[in-house]
Amino acid sequence: MVSWDNPPISSDDESMKSQPPMTMECTEWIILALNHVAHCEHRAPCEELLAFESTDSGRRFLGCAKKDVPKCNYVEWIDPEWPIPLKQALARIWTMYEEEVTMRLIHDVVKVEEVCKVLKDKRKMENDLRFFKVNFAKMVADVCLNYVGISPKRKG
Ligand SMILES: [Zn+2]
Repeated sequence: MVSWDNPPISSDDESMKSQPPMTMECTEWIILALNHVAHCEHRAPCEELLAFESTDSGRRFLGCAKKDVPKCNYVEWIDPEWPIPLKQALARIWTMYEEEVTMRLIHDVVKVEEVCKVLKDKRKMENDLRFFKVNFAKMVADVCLNYVGISPKRKG
């Protein structure tokens, strides 16, 4: 039997098939739920988890505790769905978070483009410098050869 105050809310078939929510570290909650009757699709005791995703953030649930094999999608909610106002607040917070992440990504892309442009300019300048050095060396060689009276055109 579940020892919490609220009775477990059984997940329907639809939620059993979908991916379990993301979770967050919560040492008070993340322990093997050996005293609970729930067993995952591996027929193994469940782990007590804390959802950290969308409007389910903060809801306790039992999920797959397997570490050595891929986890199954078993989810048994312990907490009921949050009240509508709390869901709306959580949705707004997650939207703000996603907007911030998007803005940072755009900022990073702009930075990367700037760095790429600088690197491209640097490469072009290095090529120009190399070309100049070769031309300058040829010019100096021509001047030197003319100075000593040996035309490079007659050479060889
Ligand atoms: Zn499992």
